[in-house]
Amino acid sequence: MTQTDTISKPGRVAGEAAKRRTFAIISHPDAGKTTLTEKLLLYGGALHEAGSIRARKASRHAASDWMSIEKERGISVTSSVLRFEKDNIRYNLLDTPGHKDFSEDTLRTLVAADSGLMVIDVAKGVEEQTEKLFEVCRLRQVPVITFVNKCDRPGMEPLEVLSNVENKLGIEAIPASWPVGYGQKFQGIYDLIGKELHLYQKSEHGAKKADTVICSLEEGLEKSSLSDAEKEALREEIMLIEDMFSGMDPEGFKKGTVSPVFFGSALNNFGLDVFLNYFKELAPPPQAYSDDSGELHGLDEPFSGFIFKLQANMNPDHRDCAAFVRVTSGQFKRGLEVVHAGTGKKVRMSTPHTLMGDERHILEEAYPGDIVSLFNPGFFRIGSTLYSGSPVSFNVIPLFTPEHFMKVSTKDPFKRKQLREGLKQLSEEGVVHVFEVPNGVGNELLLGTVGVLQFEVVQHRMATEYGVELHMQPVSYNSARWLPSESEKIIEKLESSYSTHITRDMDENPIVLFDSAYALTQAEEKVGAENLFKYKQD
Ligand code: GDP
Repeated sequence: MTQTDTISKPGRVAGEAAKRRTFAIISHPDAGKTTLTEKLLLYGGALHEAGSIRARKASRHAASDWMSIEKERGISVTSSVLRFEKDNIRYNLLDTPGHKDFSEDTLRTLVAADSGLMVIDVAKGVEEQTEKLFEVCRLRQVPVITFVNKCDRPGMEPLEVLSNVENKLGIEAIPASWPVGYGQKFQGIYDLIGKELHLYQKSEHGAKKADTVICSLEEGLEKSSLSDAEKEALREEIMLIEDMFSGMDPEGFKKGTVSPVFFGSALNNFGLDVFLNYFKELAPPPQAYSDDSGELHGLDEPFSGFIFKLQANMNPDHRDCAAFVRVTSGQFKRGLEVVHAGTGKKVRMSTPHTLMGDERHILEEAYPGDIVSLFNPGFFRIGSTLYSGSPVSFNVIPLFTPEHFMKVSTKDPFKRKQLREGLKQLSEEGVVHVFEVPNGVGNELLLGTVGVLQFEVVQHRMATEYGVELHMQPVSYNSARWLPSESEKIIEKLESSYSTHITRDMDENPIVLFDSAYALTQAEEKVGAENLFKYKQD
């Protein structure tokens, strides 16, 4: 084979990667993520009847039902990734928990995705948690595709939704489909790319695909129950927007500054066919990652991957800890020997046989874009690179600034050493940020988290693994910013203001804590917002 052959022809691994779409849903609780996930499976051909995921959400213990779905339909599920295949494409949907489960893990999981599917409620527009998740997509410059859900309910008019997305997120929202009728009159979707109108009939409880008639705009309008005035208004709207998609800036889309927008109702299965038709084309397959020196590490290189999530089992009967690895290059095979980039230690990769109690799932081989869960031999860290060829290291997981803070202590003076040791370990695992803050007589320990549930996890693990009963006390801090590594001058400037508190985490990363939005604004004015990081990546 000549050199040009090897350059021009992608290898087998790159070919496998091209068949994968690894994405995460970004949404606010209640926007319809669970419903949409289930309908993607229904329309993706992995489920013949919807209903089971909802049941699973209602009862987190319904793992056995879930297992049977897994076996019958050939879908694999772990607590972190849901896989399905359609038209020779493998979709890896990464789980991004919401509500109370929202944590730094949620944000880190997004780093393992190649695109984001932003689900918004037509009545509410972009909400708080969506904004936070979107920030991570912006930071990583990954494409975001928008699905406006619940169009069967009263809400904003479609043009208002587009403005809402643009104003809240500062991106361009380009319609790819358009609702025919709103609220109670919602009955179809006009596919602005294929220039076809899909008219739907509801199926009972949305359990089966909706009966659909596909026709031209005029034919569809004729068949619809819209009034003449509504038909005319729709024609006018479509004239206004119909060329927007073809004019969409592809570079802007790739970088996440332009988002194509689809409308629909996940509950009634309206608009899902149109969305899925284009999702495959729009969502990018896995690409080569840049290593620490900035060189692209090709997909066909030997196996490499990075750890984005560590999960200790909360059940004391199953003490194993899993590490979730996003494959970045090469083929993973169970039993492969790899090197851990941080320590140089060699590890044989065996997949954990027990994950989250009783959800059993063993992966034999994986390719770029896939997620593998492994036993953590104890020295794996969030962001660690694993490789099997020549040494490589990726620095892809940033530190996210904590938003919740608690002062911690233990009442038992004999447990102080365990307290520090335990917290150091949990901070290394990426469960919590730990800071030491002087209090006049000594140092007190402060915990910082992205989500409130992380405190409960710390409390539980400190008690069960280190025998330390933690005493937690709320403090007045409500935001923080990381500082650049070389930050003496900035620290000097900030120290002159007594409403700012500068400290370091257990890895010696300097961070400023603020007790009000005003203090943060003042600090930004003093040292420049560009020196105060919401995310820190060395
Ligand atoms: P999640 O919290 O984002 O996972 O949201 P769910 O999928 O659990 O949905 C929240 C609620 O909205 C549930 O009661 C769903 O039945 C409902 N829902 C989801 N999609 C739609 C939709 O398209 N139309 C309507 N009317 N309700 C919906």
